[in-house]
Amino acid sequence: MERVPLVIGSVGALDHHDTGRGHPERPARLEAVTRGVELAHLHDAARPLEGRLARIGELARVHDELYLEALAQLAEAGGGELDPDTSMSGGSWATAQWSAGLGLAAIEALQRGEADAAFVAPRPPGHHATATRAMGFCLLNNVAVAAAALAEAGERVLIVDWDVHHGNGTQDIFWNDPRVVYVSTHEWPAYPGTGRASETGGLGAPGSTVNIPLPSGATGDVALAAIDEVVAPVVDAFSPTWVLISAGFDAHRDDPLADLMWSAGDYADLTRRLMAFAPEPGRVVAFLEGGYDLDALARSVAATVSTLAGAELRPEPATGGGPGREAVALAARTRAKLAELEGEPS
Ligand SMILES: [Zn+2]
Repeated sequence: MERVPLVIGSVGALDHHDTGRGHPERPARLEAVTRGVELAHLHDAARPLEGRLARIGELARVHDELYLEALAQLAEAGGGELDPDTSMSGGSWATAQWSAGLGLAAIEALQRGEADAAFVAPRPPGHHATATRAMGFCLLNNVAVAAAALAEAGERVLIVDWDVHHGNGTQDIFWNDPRVVYVSTHEWPAYPGTGRASETGGLGAPGSTVNIPLPSGATGDVALAAIDEVVAPVVDAFSPTWVLISAGFDAHRDDPLADLMWSAGDYADLTRRLMAFAPEPGRVVAFLEGGYDLDALARSVAATVSTLAGAELRPEPATGGGPGREAVALAARTRAKLAELEGEPS
């Protein structure tokens, strides 16, 4: 198959995950993603990705098997509530398995040399799901399933999570795993309450978690500073072989669920920065997480996929001037302290 800049996978017509009337994490989000891809006018630069179901063994690398059985049984019974924000319908289990499989299919397509990058739009999102628990609209941790597959194959995986919420599930899953570095920028304090700068990884993988909590009102220039001043040195030391992006778009200023002030243009800049962390083309996969204003979601997806495809579309200019420089400086000091500790004999 001829190599293209970008492959794009979505749950699309296989989306049978019904969250109920009035829920922000709704099927129309995937239609907004499709609109965003159309807005990017990628033409021959992009091709649809053929997805597949994630197998139980692939999910069990990051999720407890009893938890997986419980999800399957709840769907079988027609669905139900898992926490105050998170529910399943009868079709949710199959949809979630397909969603988790999208990232695996994307990696396989890139490994076959079919594209320089991939963008996948799973639904439900994944980064709040822990090994044993659904929460925050998430059932299966899509990005973690993909990262675990790569890690098992001997790869060093960088996950950058720019969703406005902290990806507590992803952090938890890789807390003691030195094969995966997890980086998150997020509004703080906010749901789910984790993600302080002082959370830097467990005893099995000290320093492999990087949290950059940002105050309400923070603009895109602050996120870029975080990438340049805090993340880039970590990436230099880790030399990832793959870069996975937990690309939620709810830090957009129009999003109803949070109060950061980013724009679509900021997502273009962030995408470009993160692509530069990959050792070569064909090692970047971006995963949809949150993003609940449908127009902002479409514009942000357009900017992201166009950058991933090597083009330059900015439906909105980048933002600057908001608060958050102190938070970035604090995260940088936390890293410097860790590096000092590592340098000392124990
Ligand atoms: Zn979010």
